[in-house]
Parts: sequence; structure tokens; C-alpha cells
Amino acid sequence: MKMNINKMLEYQASDQIIYKAEQAFSSSPENRRYSQIVARINELRANVLKLDKEAADIRKDIEKKEKQLEELGLQAEKSVAEMLGEKTLGEISRNEETVKRFEESFDAADKDFARALKRLEDIEKEAKQSLVELKRCNSDLEKSKVVLAKKRAEMQAELQDEVMRRKSIQAEIDPAHLEIYKKVRKEINRLPIMVEYVAGTCRGCGMHVENDLRGKLVESGDVAECPNCRRILYLK
Ligand SMILES: [Zn+2]
Repeated sequence: MKMNINKMLEYQASDQIIYKAEQAFSSSPENRRYSQIVARINELRANVLKLDKEAADIRKDIEKKEKQLEELGLQAEKSVAEMLGEKTLGEISRNEETVKRFEESFDAADKDFARALKRLEDIEKEAKQSLVELKRCNSDLEKSKVVLAKKRAEMQAELQDEVMRRKSIQAEIDPAHLEIYKKVRKEINRLPIMVEYVAGTCRGCGMHVENDLRGKLVESGDVAECPNCRRILYLK
């Protein structure tokens, strides 16, 4: 395939200026601060959800244990009643076992309940703290949004001329070629993507690719995809 290399390179040079400014904006302290707040908000939200779920699980567990305890209590009551009319030693010891098991379960459950209630209290405290911080983060986010919008507007104002220039160069390029350029730019996401093919080597990645591209880059204006880095190789 043949391209108007000079035009494409002109386009790329302009594109690169815009790209650099966009990169500088992305890595600016204002944008980083904004991303940090967003990340913290997501973290806090996830934590509140996690705590909610844990509290719900604990409550369910308490309910289940209370039910079990109730059943054991009924069995114990029955055993006590039966003990009054005991006949064999075997029956007496079996009923005594049931009562003992109830008492043990009751003691264990008491401790479990105390522990669960303490955890519920802690969860409530932690969730409250998270919500307070979340509120603060949301207000920080609003401020950060304003700062960022101002910075973006500044960047756009500075780039305005360059964007117009890129547009005017674009008008002189074959749309099919521009489409290839844009596709590769999107895939690679760093510039330059139009690189010279010199002595069988890709100037982008430094690979010797002569064998793969034999017959494709023959005369000036020829282009081909680098089999290694996918950039667009051209022959001057
Ligand atoms: Zn390459």
C-alpha cells in the first residue's frame, strides 16, 4: 500500500502535540487527586457494603442459634419431666445427658451472643466512620471536579489552534489511510506510530523485520505493518 508519507507525518506531528498535552493532563496532580478521591470513594462504598453484609450474617446466625437453643431447652424440659418418673438407670443417665447438653450449649451460646453483639457494635462504629469519610470525600470530589474542569478548559484553549491545524491536515489525507492510522493509534496508544523502515529494521521497536516484509516495502511511499510492534512502517 502507498501513502502520502509527508502528509501523514505532518498529521502525526500535530497529533503528537495534542497527545502530549492530553498525557500531561492525565498525569497532572489535579487529575491524580481526582482519581485518588474516586478510588477512595469506591473503597469506602465497598467497605460499607461488606460491613452491612457481615452484620446481616451475624444477625441471621444469632437467630439460628436462638432457635437451636430453644429446641434444646424444650428437650431439656421434657427430660426433667421424665426424670421424675424414671425407671431404669439407662433412662436416667440419658435424660441427665440431655439436660447437661442444654446447660453447656446455653453457656456457649451466651459467650457467642456476647461476642456477636460486640462485633455488631464495632461494625456499626466502623460503618459510621466510613459514612462520615464518604461524605467528606464526596464534597472533596465536587471541589476537585471544578478544579479539573478549569484545567481541562485551559488545556483545550491552549490546544485549540493545534486541533484546527490537525483538522486541516486531515482534510488532505485519504480517509482510508487516516482510518488505518487511527486504528493503530488506538491499539498501540502511544506515539509515534508511523515509523521509518531503515535497512530492514523497524525504527519503532528496533526489530529486524526484513524477512517478514520482503516485497512489501519496495519504493518510496510504501507502508506495511511491523510484525513485531504493529506500528506503520514506511519507506521514505
Ligand atoms: Zn516494530
